[in-house]
Amino acid sequence: MGAVSQPTYCGEVSGHDDAAGDRPAARPLSRRGLLGLGVGLAAAGTGLAGCAADDATGPDLPGLRRAQPTCVRRSSLPRYDRLADLPLVYEVNRRRSEFSVDGGFAGQLEAWLTDLRELTGWPLRQLWTYGTWTDGGTACSSWHDAGRAFDLARLRLEDGTDVSCRYDLWRDASGRGLTWARRTYWAVAASAHQHFAYVLTYLYDAQHHNHIHLDNGRSGAGRSTFSSRSPAQVQAVQGVLTHLWDRPVEVTGRWDAPTREATRTVLSGLEVGDDLTDQATWAGFLTASTRRGADRD
Ligand SMILES: [Zn+2]
Repeated sequence: MGAVSQPTYCGEVSGHDDAAGDRPAARPLSRRGLLGLGVGLAAAGTGLAGCAADDATGPDLPGLRRAQPTCVRRSSLPRYDRLADLPLVYEVNRRRSEFSVDGGFAGQLEAWLTDLRELTGWPLRQLWTYGTWTDGGTACSSWHDAGRAFDLARLRLEDGTDVSCRYDLWRDASGRGLTWARRTYWAVAASAHQHFAYVLTYLYDAQHHNHIHLDNGRSGAGRSTFSSRSPAQVQAVQGVLTHLWDRPVEVTGRWDAPTREATRTVLSGLEVGDDLTDQATWAGFLTASTRRGADRD
């Protein structure tokens, strides 16, 4: 019966074409960026779905009761065509679009993007997304329904290169292209995890193979803190250890002995403390990880 209460993200997205004005039409996906990763253009049109229903109130922090989202009408939310000066592009039709976002959450997204730009030095040009608000109808089950979730598809840089969250497109790449895709992906994920406690990557499930989901349902107006009981956060630590710190561990989503040991080793080299549940240590670990993923460590 669960499907009945689930919002239909695929058919109900908050992207809204803005064809008016003199804005240039979105350019085709960067041929160079895609080919550089060994991905044919034919693949660019696949994977058109953003988050499905069960991401934002998913089975994270088992046993703990999470706050539940409050559905809002789209018309009650402010609309944005850019965040932190970056034009928003709807991943599905590759056009610049407006999106409805909770005002407080939009401010947090802008703080995150400003931080990401500073830590990585990336010349960001556009923010590509699968959307924000969804219509929860009578059953409110996702932070998308509250306008407090964002699905990141890619960050386009000034030279047309994409920092891509489209794992579905680059996972079969090889060589330097794959290495670069992985490192930049995890740099973005680490940065997002510092600002939001609920961030879902491709490690979470197949629905997140084409975007990173972030929402402030757990962390509210504050920065994130780490809980070893959060499978999403533990998965992120495991991904970051494996792909950014050359400390490969099995992705279990559990705070197991190999993960604790690898974390201890990395933290001891960073001198930011030894306990990830300490907010400053968590922030220091993620900051260093983001810089490392962008080769600025
Ligand atoms: Zn989402």
